[in-house]
Amino acid sequence: MSPIGITVLLLASFLAFSYFTARKLAIVAALAPEVRWDRPWSRLRSVLGNGLLQQRMVRREWKPGVMHAVIFLGFMSLLVRKVQLIVIGFDELYAFTGPLGDFLTLWKDLVEAAVLLAVAYALYRRLVLKPQRLEPNREGLLVLSLISIIMVTDLAFDAFRFAQYSGTVSAIAHERAHAPLGGWLSSLVDHWPVGTLGTAAAFAYWTQMITVCVFLVLLPLGEHFHIVTALPALFFRRGTPANEVPAVDLSPLLDDAADASELKVGARTAADLVWKDALDAFTCTECGRCKDACPTFVTGKPLSMKWVNDDLKRHLLEQRQTLVEGGAEALARLPPLVGDVIGEDTLWSCTTCGYCEAACPIELELLPKFFRLRQHRVMMDGEFPGELKNVFDAYEVQSNPWGLPADTRGDWARGLDVPLITSAEQMAQVEYLFYVGSAESFDVRGQRIARAFVEILREAGVSFGILGAREPTTGECVRRVGNEMLFQQLAATLVETFNGLGVKRIVTCDPHAYNSLRNEYPAFGGKWDVVHHTQLVATLLDQGRIAVKPTFERVMLHDPCYLGRHNGEYDAPRRILERVTRDAPLEFPLNREKAMCCGAGGGRMWMEEHIGRRINVTRVEQALPQRPGVIATACPYCAVMVGDGLKAKEAHETTGSQDVAELVAVALIRKPVEGLVPTRAHDKVEASTTRARAGCPRPRASTAPT
Ligand code: SF4
Ligand code: SF4
Repeated sequence: MSPIGITVLLLASFLAFSYFTARKLAIVAALAPEVRWDRPWSRLRSVLGNGLLQQRMVRREWKPGVMHAVIFLGFMSLLVRKVQLIVIGFDELYAFTGPLGDFLTLWKDLVEAAVLLAVAYALYRRLVLKPQRLEPNREGLLVLSLISIIMVTDLAFDAFRFAQYSGTVSAIAHERAHAPLGGWLSSLVDHWPVGTLGTAAAFAYWTQMITVCVFLVLLPLGEHFHIVTALPALFFRRGTPANEVPAVDLSPLLDDAADASELKVGARTAADLVWKDALDAFTCTECGRCKDACPTFVTGKPLSMKWVNDDLKRHLLEQRQTLVEGGAEALARLPPLVGDVIGEDTLWSCTTCGYCEAACPIELELLPKFFRLRQHRVMMDGEFPGELKNVFDAYEVQSNPWGLPADTRGDWARGLDVPLITSAEQMAQVEYLFYVGSAESFDVRGQRIARAFVEILREAGVSFGILGAREPTTGECVRRVGNEMLFQQLAATLVETFNGLGVKRIVTCDPHAYNSLRNEYPAFGGKWDVVHHTQLVATLLDQGRIAVKPTFERVMLHDPCYLGRHNGEYDAPRRILERVTRDAPLEFPLNREKAMCCGAGGGRMWMEEHIGRRINVTRVEQALPQRPGVIATACPYCAVMVGDGLKAKEAHETTGSQDVAELVAVALIRKPVEGLVPTRAHDKVEASTTRARAGCPRPRASTAPT
């Protein structure tokens, strides 16, 4: 071919690629450090599974998943072919020989055929099927076209070259014999004059090499930069629960001598982000998978992880010079992210359900960013949705978001003779501390769930107790909305109380409390064995400690995000439903890891929905076409949201909203107790026996509404 031509072409394109790549990576390197080297094996597993094998993508949507995997892996494996083509640029008669060469020749043909089929399917999806999440995107079409050109010209080059030389150069004839597609194509042009074949081969060669170089230069300029950054992004993924709130050192805030202008809490500008935030923004493929069941996107609110990455990427590039070269003064002048880049409504719309992160094929992250932005808005700016002011005040004064008197926290149990734990000695005598949480202590709907669960524990003979008015709140909700200061105060009280009582095992019906106690409190000195009530009830059923009769029909489970997506528990509530239903439980079209949030998480329970459709109503609408008799939940907040959604759709007469525990309590086959037939009487004996064992006093009488 032309050694000078190929050298100049390669040098120019590699220089341009390196220049544009370095410009972007310099921004990543300029942001705050964060250690992401721990657990290297699990990181490598992620690179192999979700990077090279594209498992997440294939598992969620097998057809587009396989298509993308074929294009990606095919493209990668053809790099060896590109090296061969570069060598041919210097030595026109070079050919692969030997067993490895024969394999590479065969492999190349097969891969090129597979990639061409996959590209055809990708074009069909984009141009004909047009899935809703794929926004019109010229870059996507351009890249697919470039890939097609590279594959077609490579096959054409082989065909012309084989026909030109296979009669005279034995190595090329040998290669032709091992290239099924190229060999067959060359048989179609064998009769062409040698000169014409040479010109055609040169044309195919240079068209391909120029296209490869154009592709290389375009990579760092657009969304296809992910071909370079996806594997590093997967390796440096967080790998801890999606809704883990970034640690905040609050000591400067508590230090009166600290210089207020030096204080930094959370993130205000792009300079406060960590390096992985920038890497994620540059890695986003704009595939839109994060939007499919994002409750905010689905209901018309201005938030999806794709849009956030898009806006952030644009902002980082606009501020590149300041971020990379600016001193402290220049960095301080950067515009705030919230308001200028990410709208207030965008920030506060998020329910922290984690769908987007679980759906993203390359495990990009949104929540850590949002938590840091919320922390800054709340603790430094004092700017947040007005409804949250009441919530913070209520927590500060009464340790619950309803603002009801803290000393009425145990009143839900009035008349149930639930054992009340007041000392470490009593705690040591019970199997479980039943952590009731604010929703089931103060909200009428939640109280019914707590009572049903107590009935189950009694029937199973599980010894347990509650803390009643002494029960501290987890503060989970205030943490999710950025008030880390208040959360840490509440957490200190909870840890002191639990550890002072020697708490070891906790059961709770609230997935938010479950998540917080299980995943967050260890960092604050609270190391307990925490189970969700569905896990305990499923075990009690398996062990035969309780029995139920199939009672309900057409029951459909709504997966709570904080139980399912954030803690991986999808089976326990289903195992229970299989026992209490006469027919097979129904499933939401969006279920398990694809389940859509009810709209209550991330503090949204306490904020009005001003934009778009209501999330809980939309969730209920997804169920109603199957005419469920009951939408079962496993979270007191979900129960409220689903119940309200059913009322809004005027479907509450035909479809109930029940916690799994409430269904079990109704379906219980109660063990006969000699001389005691009525259920309540039986309960009383069981309760007083348990209470006597634990030596617990009754909870105090209620003044709270129940
Ligand atoms: S966490 Fe949930 S609500 Fe927030 S952006 Fe992701 S999918 Fe949407
Ligand atoms: S954030 Fe992930 S899922 Fe969403 S568009 Fe980007 S790559 Fe796709």
